[in-house]
Amino acid sequence: MIPLRKTRTIQVRGLPIGGTAPIAVQSMAATRTQDIPATLRQVRILEAAGADLIRIAVDSDKDVEALALIRAETRARLSVDLQENYRLAEKVAPHVDKLRYNPGHLHHHEKARSTREKVRFLVDVARRHSLALRIGVNAGSIAPEYKERFPGDDVGAIAQCAIDHCALVDDAGFTEYLVSIKDSDPRLVVDANVRFAEARPDVPIHLGVTEAGMPPEGIIKTRIAFEQLLSRGIGDTLRVSLTLPFDDKGREIAVGRELISDIENGRFRSVPPNFFQGLNIIACPSCSRVENEKFIELAAEVRRITADAKDHDLTIAVMGCRVNGPGETDDADLGLWCGPNYVNLKRGELDLGAYKYDEILARLRTELDRLIASK
Ligand code: SF4
Repeated sequence: MIPLRKTRTIQVRGLPIGGTAPIAVQSMAATRTQDIPATLRQVRILEAAGADLIRIAVDSDKDVEALALIRAETRARLSVDLQENYRLAEKVAPHVDKLRYNPGHLHHHEKARSTREKVRFLVDVARRHSLALRIGVNAGSIAPEYKERFPGDDVGAIAQCAIDHCALVDDAGFTEYLVSIKDSDPRLVVDANVRFAEARPDVPIHLGVTEAGMPPEGIIKTRIAFEQLLSRGIGDTLRVSLTLPFDDKGREIAVGRELISDIENGRFRSVPPNFFQGLNIIACPSCSRVENEKFIELAAEVRRITADAKDHDLTIAVMGCRVNGPGETDDADLGLWCGPNYVNLKRGELDLGAYKYDEILARLRTELDRLIASK
């Protein structure tokens, strides 16, 4: 049930991705990168689960030092997630097999430098170190110029951003790259990837529904997108993003392989027309930016204390960090993002302040009740 894919094949240290290669399954370390024993343990858990590639987030020079030590202890294929500090690419390159950059984060640093120059820099680093590159577009962090060009049209914005960045990488004469276009809404993931694949059938695609949340809902949302895309021959590697305790992260790999096998064998699940109605809780899968592991528990508690509101068409977003939390909660009715000691809360765009971990649930509930009453 998965048609022959027609993209070119790229290599990530001996792992072919795209074309007729098997669909590669990957995941990401959820631990703090500088906690070397914990991150190595995470890498080993994912390796044991059969991960083809493991991503690690790097934000600082100290993270790079930790990454070098982790690299010395494992032969796993490593990919690095460059967030705002794209120039760290040069320092991390000797320790990894693939770089991921987010076009929506390139504007944060060196504002006088053009996007073209920044992409050229990343391509040069990747080429010098024989690395693959991922252009990782995310609807939660759309580059400002695309927000302006596509007001109210997130699908158009993220698909066009990916297409334009492919052109920038092409212009630099580099072909060892792939693209991901993610969001927490599987419908948007399907539409944007279909649009991108029509424009660039040659470019391998990494699939994912970001912040899908906890199982089983997170798995269901991911399945909806993957069934629609893989059955159209779209998708060459994938990640299932689930909010799980660190020691259970191998489940992301197992679920990824199960979804591929089901789709290959025609085992599709139908989705009722009202599936997207009612309370929607999105939660990030956590990564090295999580400053308090209570985040995982908090996400589960949010689901528990809001269970009786399941019939209300509202979205609650629970994010693990202060870096991406504010942006990733923009479209939610109620958004929470976690710091070391406090959890920030907002209603729509209104900031409601920061609350201790033992206070936040009561405050959230009050806001939820107010929202329900006002509807
Ligand atoms: S929201 Fe923060 S902690 Fe969660 S996955 Fe994204 S960057 Fe990591």
